[in-house]
Amino acid sequence: PFTPRPLVAGNWKMNGLSASLGEIETIAARYDAALRDKVELAICPPVTLLERAARILAGAKIAFGGQDCHEKPSGAHTGDISAEMLADAGASYVIVGHSERRADHGEGDALIRAKAQAALRAGLTPIVCVGETRAERDAGRASAIVEAQLDGSLPQSVAPDHIVVAYEPVWAIGTGLTPTPVDVAQMHAAIRARLTALFGAGAEATRILYGGSVKPANAAELLRVKNVDGALVGGASLTAKEFLEIAEIYR
Ligand code: PEP
Repeated sequence: PFTPRPLVAGNWKMNGLSASLGEIETIAARYDAALRDKVELAICPPVTLLERAARILAGAKIAFGGQDCHEKPSGAHTGDISAEMLADAGASYVIVGHSERRADHGEGDALIRAKAQAALRAGLTPIVCVGETRAERDAGRASAIVEAQLDGSLPQSVAPDHIVVAYEPVWAIGTGLTPTPVDVAQMHAAIRARLTALFGAGAEATRILYGGSVKPANAAELLRVKNVDGALVGGASLTAKEFLEIAEIYR
């Protein structure tokens, strides 16, 4: 069966000053042709570093992306960044629907779908995040919640290889806790089935990332699970050493 080249994407969140560009330089220097064959890398730094990160990454064939975008292309939206602006800065990806956006900014599925559609309009690949809370998992509702998020937040017509889905259980983000590989396998299979229902057999081309406390120590067991096509990495993406150790799993 078709398996897409995996993607390891780093989400820097609200972290990173000029001094952190050295980490990006190190990542760029160590991403050799052999590793590039096996795994795609992307970094989503804060917008303030985008331009300078772009210059470092250009030669290394490492993609970069935004962490959010507004659904409109331009206009009176103080503080917001459009997908077109990210594309203009050279981005290939944008994360939409991260649980921190859902929680901190009250973003719901309909808005996230509009943002994902904006990303496609601008020629970006949206990384659409879904995931259940601890209470939802404990209530046995994890897959129902994730399926509803997929139904509500994925763009309605899209080539399956033009979107990425990230399964990020909210309780695993930044906590050091992770689901078991069996739980990850079940959820990723459920997501694949949902994508197949929405997009048909071509849904094999959609990369489904796992995210939530991925570290060098647990990356191998989490990333080798069936239907896990890479990782969305928060904390461990802030240092070149940890981010590269995770990517090296694929070498
Ligand atoms: C994230 O928030 O996208 C994430 C996966 O964070 P962490 O790796 O720090 O849990």
